[in-house]
Amino acid sequence: MIGIIFGPPGSGKGTQAARIEGEFGLKHLSTGAILRQEVAKGTPTGKEAGRVMAAGDLVPDDLIVDIVRSRLPEAEAGAGVLLDGFPRTAAQARALDSMLENEGHKVDFVVALDVPEQELVGRILKRAKVQGRADDTREAIEERMHEYRTLTAAVLDHYRKQGVRVEEVDGHGTPDEVFERVRRAIGISSG
Ligand code: AMP
Repeated sequence: MIGIIFGPPGSGKGTQAARIEGEFGLKHLSTGAILRQEVAKGTPTGKEAGRVMAAGDLVPDDLIVDIVRSRLPEAEAGAGVLLDGFPRTAAQARALDSMLENEGHKVDFVVALDVPEQELVGRILKRAKVQGRADDTREAIEERMHEYRTLTAAVLDHYRKQGVRVEEVDGHGTPDEVFERVRRAIGISSG
């Protein structure tokens, strides 16, 4: 099973993905988290990505596609995988499709978290105080929102056109409230 958790920066993708993983065993694969680890370790990938990320821009498609290609088989080996933060451009979505096609797989569902932009900025600034992420500054947040609107939103159309199940979920409220909606949307019942 291949799922994608989708939404603008600050919409709660990571929080919801961790819950889905905890309860249903879909392996959470977050490209942002992988990149932050690479930056922390000072690897060549981290060096290439660090400055781009801090400015709120997207790292090059090739770099991110290589990361996913190298990690997907292992992540997919169990109950399935939940991709978080990938694909973020139409080119990445096409690259993912061809990766999966080679193994006879496809994207099974997309859960798109819907949160108004005004609320997102407030949430991210709050998170900045707790986590101290380098890209949670006001300037970088604006750039990330811009990237989302101009490049990433098209990913939903890509999957809709293919007839992949795209579930839009209201991302307002507490993590528990949102998770209840997510669970209903993807049709997994905890029994
Ligand atoms: P995230 O944790 O998903 O918000 O990602 C943090 C940052 O990592 C983004 O703002 C980008 O700079 C970079 N990043 C993560 N995933 C991708 C991706 N699929 N394509 C390009 N850049 C990415």
